[in-house]
Amino acid sequence: VLNGQPSVVRPRYVRVNTLKYDVSSAIQELEKICKVKKDDVVPDLLVLPAGTDLHDHPLVVNGSVFLQGKASSMPAFALNPEPGWKVLDACAAPGNKTIQLAAIMDGKGEITACELNDKRVLHLKDTIKRSGASNVTVFHGDFLGINPKDPLFSKIQAILLDPSCSGSGTSIERLDHLLPSSEVNDAGKANNDRIWKLASFQKKALAHALSFPAVERVVYSTCSLHQMENEDVVMSALPLATSLNFNLVSPFPKWPHRGLPVFEGSEKLLRTDPAEGMDGFFITLFVKKREAKKKTRQ
Ligand code: SAM
Repeated sequence: VLNGQPSVVRPRYVRVNTLKYDVSSAIQELEKICKVKKDDVVPDLLVLPAGTDLHDHPLVVNGSVFLQGKASSMPAFALNPEPGWKVLDACAAPGNKTIQLAAIMDGKGEITACELNDKRVLHLKDTIKRSGASNVTVFHGDFLGINPKDPLFSKIQAILLDPSCSGSGTSIERLDHLLPSSEVNDAGKANNDRIWKLASFQKKALAHALSFPAVERVVYSTCSLHQMENEDVVMSALPLATSLNFNLVSPFPKWPHRGLPVFEGSEKLLRTDPAEGMDGFFITLFVKKREAKKKTRQ
């Protein structure tokens, strides 16, 4: 029990990097040290017992598998870009989702990974190198500064937007939310100001992503639990999305936990819950109408 809340035992997850290795070999190798099963929702994701430490395992060191949580593995599969597509990962470092996109696309097509922060861009380059992905170009700059009509970007078909957020759905940051309201003090106010600033960036970034002329799919994801960073951001983009012919499409339609019911259609949004043994994530998928019938993940 943690701060009056029952703590949930979390399994460990590893994603097999199918650019370098195959799922059955990974299972065979990892079964030498622990019990392994395939995740029932996310392809290429393996579930290991809680507490399994794989940091120094050769498969991790050589980039055959990546330590990546279940919720964090869902946004790239929600976007599900096709091999050969031109894809932009708008806020990319440390690059877990960038290289997952490369694997989903079988290494075919072009991925641009955009990252603003000088130090994090180095981490991004290192992740890409370890993954063996050869179709990723790093763009070190501000996503909001990209001109969607620039010939380098005007043919982008899919955008993953996983911007900076409060991280309130992740295990460490989440503890803030367990404080009784009587203890919400100056720190609480500073936190609210921070969330407000993050949300205003997230709204600009989502509107910007929707404005790329050839984009057919946009995924907006956060690891936040706050409505301000999630449903409210999506709601602010709806008039623009509608005018550009985008629909909200349900990513992982069988997933039971959906967006907060704050606008019509919010049941298309997906939430994951820390009480379900994973980080709290929020995922929204926009699809241009002419494409809306194409497959989405189960
Ligand atoms: N998608 C990443 C992954 O799965 O590994 C995590 C992305 S993290 C939540 C958000 C990233 O966006 C940070 O590395 C941050 O430096 C970057 N960022 C923030 N503002 C940005 C901007 N205006 N343009 C590009 N990157 C930005």
